[in-house]
Amino acid sequence: MIPRLFGTNGIRGVVGQDMTVDLALRMGKSIGSVFEPGPIAVGRDPRTSGPMLRDAVAAGLLATGHDIVDTGVIPTPGLQYFVHTGRFSGGVVVTASHNPAEFNGIKVIDSQGMEVSRPEEERIEAVYFREAYRLADWKAVGRLRVDTSAVGAYIDGIVSKVHADVIRSAGLRVVVDCANGASCGTSPALLSRLGVEVISLNGHPDGTFPGRPPEPVRENLGALLREVRASNAHLGVAHDGDADRAIFVDERGEYVFGDRSLALVAKDLVSRHGGVVVTPVSSSRCVEDVVRAAGGTVVYTKVGAPIVARVMYERGAVFGGEENGGMIFPNHQFCRDGGMTLARVVEIVAGSRRRFSELLAEIPAYSLHKTSVRYKAPERDAILARLKVLASSLRVDDIDGIKVHYEDGWVLVRPSGTEPIFRIFAEAPTPGRAKALAEEGEALLKKAIAGA
Ligand code: MG
Repeated sequence: MIPRLFGTNGIRGVVGQDMTVDLALRMGKSIGSVFEPGPIAVGRDPRTSGPMLRDAVAAGLLATGHDIVDTGVIPTPGLQYFVHTGRFSGGVVVTASHNPAEFNGIKVIDSQGMEVSRPEEERIEAVYFREAYRLADWKAVGRLRVDTSAVGAYIDGIVSKVHADVIRSAGLRVVVDCANGASCGTSPALLSRLGVEVISLNGHPDGTFPGRPPEPVRENLGALLREVRASNAHLGVAHDGDADRAIFVDERGEYVFGDRSLALVAKDLVSRHGGVVVTPVSSSRCVEDVVRAAGGTVVYTKVGAPIVARVMYERGAVFGGEENGGMIFPNHQFCRDGGMTLARVVEIVAGSRRRFSELLAEIPAYSLHKTSVRYKAPERDAILARLKVLASSLRVDDIDGIKVHYEDGWVLVRPSGTEPIFRIFAEAPTPGRAKALAEEGEALLKKAIAGA
């Protein structure tokens, strides 16, 4: 039995504890042993441990005979774009995304620019734990080259996929909060290219994240909310540390939950192109409401952006994404892209000639109620099986955990990936009804735990 290294979004840990220079070197050797021969692109976010871990990964890749192209600091989707538009065997990004400064991580990208699939992760894990590296002899050791053109090519790629003239003529003012992360070199420049007046917050790269924690949740965005109001901006945007996500603020300085911006973009794309939208089972029903009304269909997946991207690829989806501000545009690339999301939302606001808050007000609103229940870890699967039987008279799916659908809402019971608790999410038109559905889910779950 080979232990698991990869989590939902690559490998993450606290630097010096579980994310060490030795792990990064072994990962480099393992990835290099599994990937097809050919060059590998390597990039990172501005974390202080980035150069150390990047050099260790790079040493391992070079030792397995791969040439390396080092892009320097770049958003994760920028590196992915560089890989899929170039000729690479794959890519590696040294980033811990939205985690605090003491964390870092390794994301592995396949030759198409997508995060590697679970079977590919298992192959890398097998080499890692068996130390079965395929090392090159001295004549075949890889060469390293620096290429700083990737950032510019990424911005060009996004600009080419929106109606730049429509955006330019709207005369928008946007506040951009880059969290001192990887988007400092991309999002403000992207908006300037699109003729948008930019007000920048936390706009210089600094891996200690002095401005705010890199997760774009409401409690971290007070300065952005105030600045949007104070500067009379048309909207605000905040990225996470590696800028695969974008979270918005309306012109009144109100935080916009990610499922609402997801629904807004889904509505726009499906009303023009029709088609399939892919999103995890945990997403708000407001997405399905607007997609159905626009003549499209929603396909649900397990939670996790790499899975959403894979299903989009297989189903030929028009759009997909998560409720945390991670959106995927298949005409651009099959991964979450914070810069592309920003450009699209700005395009929608510019094209509508209306206020951002008015567009969002047309999206149906639901209340979410969350709770959790502890259980004994080894009983997880038995509890889920029992829960499915107990709920069998109701409308149930087991795509990820157990989700019970009601006429006016749903409840999802899902085991946490990191601790022995079941998380219960319930969504309904009113807070009272959402709480009642969560309580029904909790009662069923407690019965399942007692009977397991
Ligand atoms: Mg991220």
